[in-house]
Amino acid sequence: MRKPVIAGNWKMYKTLRESVDFARELAPLLAPFSSVERIVCPTYIALAAVADALKGMEIKVGAQNVHWEAQGAFTSQIAPTMLQGLAEYVLIGHSESRAYLAETDELISKKVKAALAYGLKPIVAVGESLGQYEAGQTSQVVGGQVRAALNGVDAANMANIILAYEPIWAIGTGKNASGQLANNIIGGTIRATLVDLYGRSIADSVGIQYGGSVKPENMAEYMSQPDIDGALVGGASLKADTFTELVRIAAQEKGK
Ligand code: PEP
Repeated sequence: MRKPVIAGNWKMYKTLRESVDFARELAPLLAPFSSVERIVCPTYIALAAVADALKGMEIKVGAQNVHWEAQGAFTSQIAPTMLQGLAEYVLIGHSESRAYLAETDELISKKVKAALAYGLKPIVAVGESLGQYEAGQTSQVVGGQVRAALNGVDAANMANIILAYEPIWAIGTGKNASGQLANNIIGGTIRATLVDLYGRSIADSVGIQYGGSVKPENMAEYMSQPDIDGALVGGASLKADTFTELVRIAAQEKGK
């Protein structure tokens, strides 16, 4: 049985003080839902303080990106060694990092391997653009991104990886993919690619989230799908009531 995982990506929102206050507000609200892995991903500068505010709680902290080298002359970057002790998870390959920071499949693969080498758990995002979706290329694009990101990752490390299917046309747009479409891509493309790379039993053990305009109103539709193991959430993770509701619905639907 895969544990459902809900990760809140706070993106470039919330100051240090706002992040800490929000983490303190969220912690008791999310506490009852221990059947769900609950993760918050604040900005780098809030990581230490949020990790501190959540100490002893079961809510995990994730970073929003990471560099691939342990240290070096890489102005503005954050090394995996620097995240150790602050974050358990790290987002890699988010479409906003691919688009605005020119992150390529090759770079993402280096980041995934570096994160694993330093004991961080990557949440690897993949997804097609609107043009690719309309051209019927979703499966080819997403399958290729999964293969590229996992290039050189051995089977033993797959226990430490989460994948997230995030169609770019659905992120922050209010236009979400239907539960059935998302389930088809996650099961028929992403998990099928994992079967090809690692075999059925490992493929069946990897958590795969959906992300893209997830909100309380559409959450049950996703969580009732057999191949969707949770959600990577932007906008709706920024408010305590909506984020808590997403976690509650995940616990309810996956507990059925
Ligand atoms: C995201 O940032 O990964 C995301 C899915 O954003 P939103 O939920 O706002 O679409």
